[in-house]
Amino acid sequence: MLKYLSDDGENDEKSYLIEQYKNKIKHLEYRVSYLEHIAKISQTLNSTLELEPLLKTITQVATELTNTEACSILLYDKASKKLKFMPSTSSVGTNKLLTISVPLEGSIAGWVFKKGRPMLIRDVKTDKRWNQSVDDESSFVTRSILGAPLKIKQDTIGVLELLNKKDDIGFTQDDIQIATTLAAQVAVAIENARLWKDVQKAYKDLQELDDLKTQFVSLASHELRTPLAVILGYATFLRDEVSGQASEQLEQVLSSAVKLRNLIDDMVNLRHIKKEDTDLDVTIFSMKKLVQDAISEFDNLLKAKALKVKVSISEKDDPINFEGDRQKIYLVVANLLSNAVKFTPEAGSILVALGRKGQKIILKIADTGVGIPEAEYHKIFEAFYQVEPVLTRRYDGMGLGLSIVKGMVDIHKGSVKVESVPNKGSQFTITLPISVDLSLENV
Ligand code: ADP
Repeated sequence: MLKYLSDDGENDEKSYLIEQYKNKIKHLEYRVSYLEHIAKISQTLNSTLELEPLLKTITQVATELTNTEACSILLYDKASKKLKFMPSTSSVGTNKLLTISVPLEGSIAGWVFKKGRPMLIRDVKTDKRWNQSVDDESSFVTRSILGAPLKIKQDTIGVLELLNKKDDIGFTQDDIQIATTLAAQVAVAIENARLWKDVQKAYKDLQELDDLKTQFVSLASHELRTPLAVILGYATFLRDEVSGQASEQLEQVLSSAVKLRNLIDDMVNLRHIKKEDTDLDVTIFSMKKLVQDAISEFDNLLKAKALKVKVSISEKDDPINFEGDRQKIYLVVANLLSNAVKFTPEAGSILVALGRKGQKIILKIADTGVGIPEAEYHKIFEAFYQVEPVLTRRYDGMGLGLSIVKGMVDIHKGSVKVESVPNKGSQFTITLPISVDLSLENV
């Protein structure tokens, strides 16, 4: 057809095509800018939980992209059953808007909220659903509105409104798409912020509950200790005074009281598991003395079970001094010894070996007891974990000893390792780095 056209006609056709290309390029530029804005918002959405600045950006972008005068975000308030403006609203007189509530009935925002669908009103004056009162109170003059619901899955939580299209063509299909996309981003941002708030609250509640539990445990253990000390004192005193059946019964009272005291000690030591309880009372002390003190505390129990104890302290390494919290390291040794005694059958053996390897102290406590299956190695260091099921277990305890051991060793930047052969025995190896090798005599 073109070849039959006159020169003028050809020129007309060319300029028409150029015009069309220009329009296409303009449209593409607009789409690119739109996508850039959306991508930027998505990026911010993923990196921040601060709701207000994010919503402010979204409302600004919304007015820019749609060429409108203002953008409001309204959230449904369950208590008043009305929609309330959020501070991110980009419009003149925002402060006034914050005090205004929009009813669900007789308002365009209310309609969008209830139906969960976008709505476009080119001239609000001709629409009965328009609520004049907001304009009256905010001194803003609304001409046209585009509303989109804020949806989280099936629930509508509020409305995004774009007000007064600045150009003559009025709102277009593109504007509806922009409003819907931005409304979805607003909804995600609000949901994220809500979830974050809920998590924070749950965490705070949990923390309070945990503090209460700790307070209760320390109070209860403290209150139980005193009467128990009296029982143990009198029972020990009576040991020499009674004989025969009474003596057997007294031994039972004593052994039950000792069990109870061990449990209470575990309760007292619970606080040591808390990672934040890292107050260290650092001194330089002899590890040899500490190990000997701990072993002598178990004298009676070792004798009662006829357990043989071999202590091996490397002569060439002696004196082995350590700079750390003595009380906490003592707890480590005492807990490992207590387990070795508890889990080793009568007439078994316990080996305690102490030595140095370079800048490290190595302490091994081995026994010929029931052993630990390899699959349980990592679990036994968890608080309240015991290899035997609660209902059928043969050994006392609360499953706290090894978690205390691990906690105390961690504080001193050391490590703890277990090796075991079931029914043959277990060996726990503690490695403690010597920060400063002072090698003091008679500490
Ligand atoms: P518990 O108070 O039960 O001894 P621990 O935390 O000290 O708690 O130990 C956890 C579990 O690890 C024990 O219940 C036991 O099953 C196992 N265990 C610890 N030490 C030994 C050991 N020397 N021999 C055999 N099993 C052990």
